[in-house]
Amino acid sequence: MEKSIKDIDKKYIVNTYNRYDLEIVEGMGVNAYDVDGREYIDLSSGIGVNSLGYCEMGWVASVTQQLCKLNHVSNLYYSRPDALLAKSLCERTGYDKVFFANSGAEANECAIKIARKYSFDKYGKGRDKIITLINSFHGRTMATLTATGQEVYHDFFFPFVDGFEYAPAGDLQSVETYVGKGDVCAVMIELVQGEGGVIALDKHYVKKLSEICKQNDVLLIIDEVQTGAGRTGKFLAAEHYGVKADITTLAKGLGGGLPIGAALVAKNCSDTLGFGMHGTTFGGNPIVCAGANYVMARMDEDFLYEAEQKGEYLQEKLSQLDGIEEVSGLGLMIGFKVKDMSSSDFVKEGIKRGLIMLTAKSKVRLLPPLTITYDEIDKALAIISSMLAK
Ligand SMILES: *Cc1c(COP(=O)(O)O)cnc(C)c1O
Repeated sequence: MEKSIKDIDKKYIVNTYNRYDLEIVEGMGVNAYDVDGREYIDLSSGIGVNSLGYCEMGWVASVTQQLCKLNHVSNLYYSRPDALLAKSLCERTGYDKVFFANSGAEANECAIKIARKYSFDKYGKGRDKIITLINSFHGRTMATLTATGQEVYHDFFFPFVDGFEYAPAGDLQSVETYVGKGDVCAVMIELVQGEGGVIALDKHYVKKLSEICKQNDVLLIIDEVQTGAGRTGKFLAAEHYGVKADITTLAKGLGGGLPIGAALVAKNCSDTLGFGMHGTTFGGNPIVCAGANYVMARMDEDFLYEAEQKGEYLQEKLSQLDGIEEVSGLGLMIGFKVKDMSSSDFVKEGIKRGLIMLTAKSKVRLLPPLTITYDEIDKALAIISSMLAK
């Protein structure tokens, strides 16, 4: 008899994921279906990736059309889907140019390289430090792991990459002290720390930070891998803050379910990288870009306004529930604490009751598809509320 998929997975896949006891085989909209045909409301979107839900029809059509026409083309040649995606990203955000990668970590790697080269070009060697925030998350490659300001990620893999310093979020003095030493080329932040517990940075702090960067010709990199592409009810979360970074990185929700990363680069540093200085085989893949182009076309002003409203509604309703505290987040990026249960136990219990959620440290984290309806939100809330009733 064939072994179960769970056994095969455990035997043959490197054991880095502590998976939940759930095998998803199909999805449609906000609903996932497991191997036994059981239906779930999925408030995780594959960690914010399926921004339009599972297998949205127009998205599937765009992707399959492209798939049947041209599956891959090297970056040695021109092609239409990535050029048009870059154009719409720039027109949408005011950035000058885009570099396409395949993941969030890679988009951040590109940002780090641009910042170091920008500073080298203007000031020579030695001005290469990058300040990140304590409790941040920037990825799993060696440099982005080092950039991640959480001690738990800084074990085992020595030596880490040189040139990163960590400042407490909200502490301008700390950043000023580092910058004052004259060897800093960039500050990299998330506006809402996602993995760190869905914690939004203070608006005044972000504005001031942006000013300090400008005054010192230190590049501001905003990692919008999780907050970007409409997640917070604006295309970029930076729009809530009234700031514009020199480099903004995107990934998770941008492709609507296909692997993509993007570094959006402002005019002052859009020509910092030249021929041969950076690249990736898969970056700007036509199928992936066809998916992202469809996502971009769907995310007009009305769509984003709706997402923002639904986010406020969901946050409001959650705050009213007994047994829930510390509701936080922006738009449809939401965290909360459950008074009498750990976040991981709550998520496990949710799966038993047909609801898929995420954790972020001690918080339960929700990243529902931006297309979720009020009716679906109410259904999910009813399950959450039944889980709190004792
Ligand atoms: C998920 C995430 C990353 C890493 O993205 P990958 O695609 O997993 O490499 C980086 N930064 C933030 C803010 C993220 O949420």
